[in-house]
Order: sequence, then structure tokens, then C-alpha cells
Amino acid sequence: MFDTVLIANRGEIALRIHRACRKLGLKTVAAYSDADALLRHVSLADKAICIGPAPSAKSYLNQHEILLAAKATGAGAIHPGYGFLSENASFAEAVEHAGLVFIGPSSKSIRLMGDKVTAKQAMAEAGVPCVPGSDGSLPDDPSSIVEVAARVGYPLIVKAAGGGGGRGMRVVESPDELVKSVAMTREEAGRAFGNPTVYLERYLKTPRHVEIQVLADSHGNAIWLGERDCSTQRRHQKLIEESPAPGIDRSEIVRIGDLCAQACVQIGYRGAGTFEFLYEEGEFFFIEMNTRVQVEHPVTELVTGVDIVAEQLRIARGERLGIKQADVTFSGHAIECRINAEHPWKFTPCPGKIDEWLIPGGPGVRVESHVYAGYVVPPHYDSLIAKLLVHGSTREEAIARMKTALDELHVRGIQTTTSLHRKLMDEPDFADGGADIHYLERLIPQWGTAKGDSHER
Ligand code: ADP
Repeated sequence: MFDTVLIANRGEIALRIHRACRKLGLKTVAAYSDADALLRHVSLADKAICIGPAPSAKSYLNQHEILLAAKATGAGAIHPGYGFLSENASFAEAVEHAGLVFIGPSSKSIRLMGDKVTAKQAMAEAGVPCVPGSDGSLPDDPSSIVEVAARVGYPLIVKAAGGGGGRGMRVVESPDELVKSVAMTREEAGRAFGNPTVYLERYLKTPRHVEIQVLADSHGNAIWLGERDCSTQRRHQKLIEESPAPGIDRSEIVRIGDLCAQACVQIGYRGAGTFEFLYEEGEFFFIEMNTRVQVEHPVTELVTGVDIVAEQLRIARGERLGIKQADVTFSGHAIECRINAEHPWKFTPCPGKIDEWLIPGGPGVRVESHVYAGYVVPPHYDSLIAKLLVHGSTREEAIARMKTALDELHVRGIQTTTSLHRKLMDEPDFADGGADIHYLERLIPQWGTAKGDSHER
């Protein structure tokens, strides 16, 4: 049993993990890079240890250094957060071999679900509906590729088995582009993910992205905690998440949620996880599973009252789930806006010094952030600087609260996505709910430059 957790991450999630550890009476160790010595959780943790220079390859991805840091500080467990090493099966294995606890699933589960091809196969076996596709990885031979593609039908999407973060995907409209697109995706995937395996899926034209949060313990119990609609995306990356998903039949959500919980039991899954689906014309299609805590987990916390990070820690300590499916209740509506240090509609990163930082408050408002006035956003990492969440008894109330909160959020010094979110909250189509994954990319050009680029500088 561990009493000290090493946090192998940075930013808002490192602070979130620190808070959950405190709540359970656990000590924390902040493992940080040279660029992050001034982060909040570094000063709040019981111990802090530098694991290397700013580039993540030399710090947050440096497995050897992180294990040494855990040994040196007497940490019994490592929480990887999201991104970095959170879905790295070899790292989870190295942690297990070092006699430490990896706060997440077993390395075996990460390996199975981390490869999108084996994940889809496992889910299909567990009765979870998947996007129709190549049923396995693509062969090398071009004529076989053409044959498989003809079976899947056009348009289709070539995807990397090891892909993530919205990268490693290419839409193919017709057979003439096929072989070249497969070769290019393979090449990119090999370079970016160290795994050139690719597969094909039917390209759904106007789906929504709806995902199911699960929790499973090591005693064979699994529950699901509702869904999140993450359709407001740019470049296949999420910007707004909400729960419940507007306009989807509850009985269908319950059916899919139950299937996900059963699938966890079937594959022996442990910890928090998310089953991602595309939803189109009343049907759910599994695309992948994330075997870690998600950026958007607080959306679920606001509607269920469950502290997902604390549950991760309890599960890692070998405890049974404290809640049964029948105890899970859903109340009201929650929305999260990701505040990124980026140009609001060009999405180019905008690191630098935050001169002024005033955060909103009031009933139903939650801010998850590691930044403060005077903080310098480093250029080396993800651009997320805050998650602004609201909860209301209805979706309308949540949107009204979000508008007020975005008006209150005041950032000076760098550009952020705040003004994009604020505009979006006024859009009638957003207010109607249920927009598809291309909604935002269709909308931004309509706004044009007339509404200006002059924000927050
Ligand atoms: P990643 O691991 O990079 O997040 P995903 O498989 O989860 O990749 O897909 C990310 C996004 O790409 C989805 O939310 C969706 O917007 C789009 N996408 C993925 N597969 C398909 C598909 N078969 N049809 C249409 N869009 C897709």
C-alpha cells in the first residue's frame, strides 16, 4: 500500500491530481522539468524533484529519470495524468517491474486498447458496435488494399493503429487516391508513433463525438458514469465538452453504457477509462478507448458528483468501487470550455507572459487551472491553460452561466480561445444542441475577419 504519489505530469492535471491525493491523505511528489519550476503544484507538493530540461522527450517522457525520481523520493505510486506516458504500456510495465503502482490499468490492458486495431477487435468481441472498416490492419500489397477498400466503401478514412491527438488520419474520397494516402499515413505513423500499422474505416460524414466514462476496480466491478458530447472540435481536437449529450435517447445511452461496463469486465480492465464513439443517425460506433483520465473528466464529475481522480487513487490502492451502477445519478447539465493559449480562430500557439489573470466565480462555476498573473506559458507543451466549467439545472442555464463566466474571465498578455467560446455561446445552432464534429470548422469562416482578430493583446 502506498502513501506517496509521484505526479509525472504538469499543468492543470498535475494540480488536480495533487488535490485528489490531499483529499485522501496521500503525500505528493511533483516531478517537473526545468521549464516548470514555478508551477503551482510544484510548490504545493510535499516534495519536488527536477526530472530534466524543458523538452518533454528529456523530462516528462524520460522513463528512467521518472523511475529514479520515484525511488529517490520514496513514492510508492506514479500518476501519469493524461498525455505524456499515460498510455505507454512499456512505461506501465517498467513501473510494475520496479515494484511501484501505476495509477491506471495494467500494462496488458494499455497495450490491448492502445492499438486501435486490437482495441476494435476486442470491443467487437464484447458486443460493442464499431465503425465498419477493414477488420484488422491493412496488408502491404496494393491490390489487396484496393480490394479491402472496395468492401469498406468510399469515402473512407485511413487511420494509424497507434495514432492519437487527432493525428495520423487521412480521408480518401475515391480509389485513385487510396494507395498513395495509405503510404503517406503509414510513413507519418511510423515517424510520429513508432508504429506504421494502418487500417481503414468508413468515413462518417456528419457524426457527433459522444463518449462514455467508465470506472473499474480490480475485483471485477465496473460502472459507467454517463456520456460526454465532445463534438465541438477543431482539427479533430476537442474544444467544448458537455453532458448530457443533447437530444440522444436516454435508453440508447443506457444500452451503450451498460455494454461499455460489461466490456471492461470482459477484458479485465482496471481504473478510469473512456470509450469514444461516433454517433450518426441514431447509431453509436466505437472508435477507440482512452485508458487514462480525460481532460474533460470534470464534466462528468459535475453531473454525477463522483470524484474521478480520487476513484483512480482508491482503485490503485486495491479498494473496491465505492459506488454501484444503481447509485449513479445524473443531475443537471455541465459544459466545459478549453481555454488555450492560442489565437482564437487560427489556433496558432501563443505562449508568453500572462500580465493579468482574473478568473470567474459564482454558483455552478468551476475553474481548473495552474496559471496566475505573472506566469509565463512555456512554448514546449500543450497550449491548455485552463478549463472553465459550468453546471446548471438545464442546458439553457448552463449556457447562460458560461456566457457570464466567459465575460468575467480576463486575460491580458497572451491570446486565448476565450473570445471564440464567447461568440459560440451566442450562436443559435449551438444553443439548439446536437451539432456534428464539423460544426465549428464550418462556422469560423462564416464569422470572417469582420469580427476581428484584435483580442486580449
Ligand atoms: P485520436 O486518438 O487521434 O483522438 P480518434 O480515433 O479518437 O483519434 O478520432 C479523433 C476524431 O477524428 C474523432 O473525434 C472524429 O472527429 C474524427 N474521426 C475519427 N474516425 C472517424 C470516422 N471513421 N469518420 C469520421 N470522422 C472520424
